[in-house]
Amino acid sequence: MINNKRCTKCSECKPQTSEHFPKGTDKDGFSCWCKACHKSYYQRNREKKLQYSISYYAENKEQILAAQHERYISNENVRSRQKELSSKHYTKHKNDYIKRARAWARKNPEQKRNYTNKRRAYIRTLPSGLTKSDWARIIVHFDHKCAYCGGENKPLQQDHFIPVASGGGLIIGNIVPACADCNSSKHNKDAFKWYADQSFFDAEKWKKINDYTQQTRKIGTA
Ligand SMILES: [Zn+2]
Ligand SMILES: [Zn+2]
Repeated sequence: MINNKRCTKCSECKPQTSEHFPKGTDKDGFSCWCKACHKSYYQRNREKKLQYSISYYAENKEQILAAQHERYISNENVRSRQKELSSKHYTKHKNDYIKRARAWARKNPEQKRNYTNKRRAYIRTLPSGLTKSDWARIIVHFDHKCAYCGGENKPLQQDHFIPVASGGGLIIGNIVPACADCNSSKHNKDAFKWYADQSFFDAEKWKKINDYTQQTRKIGTA
C-alpha cells in the first residue's frame, strides 16, 4: 500500500510516490516539497531572474557599450583581429575559416569540447529570454527590412547589436533584424564603427536602431 506524505510547502497530503514527489534528501528518498510546489517555485524564480537580467541590461547598457568601445579603441590585438575578420576578407574566406576550424576540432576533440562548454557557460551568464513573438514584433517594428541596409525581401537574421563577445544578450533591445550580408559583415564589431563605414549608412536608420535599443519589454505592444 502507498502512504501519503504531507508537502511542507503547500501542506497537501499526496501519495508518497515519484509521481508526486521529486527525489530529495528526506529519509524516504523524496523531497519534502511536492512536485507541483517545486515547479511553481522554479517558474517564479526563473521569471525573477529574467526580469533582473533585463533591468540590469537596461540600466547598464551605457556602460556595456562604453566598455566595448573602450576595448575597441585600446586593444590593438582585438583591432587587428577585427581587421582580419573585416567584412570582405571574412565573407570571401568564410568557408576556409569554417573548414580550418572543423579540421582543428576533429584533431582536438577534448579542447573543442572544453571550448564549447566554456562558451555555453559564458552565454548562460548573458541576459536572454527573447520569445518567438518578441522576434515577430521586432520584425514588424523594423517593417520587415534589414535594420541596417534597409534590404527588403531578404531572410532576416537575429543580429546581436552588442555582440555576444561583448556581453550582448538575446533580448529585446539587443536583437536587431539584419540581412545575412549585414549580419556576417558586422560580426563582432562595434555597431557604430561598422555601420558608419558602410556605403548604405543612414542617420535615420541609425537613430531608429538606437531608439529601439532603449526599449526592453515594451516594443510593439503600444
Ligand atoms: Zn506542495
Ligand atoms: Zn542588411
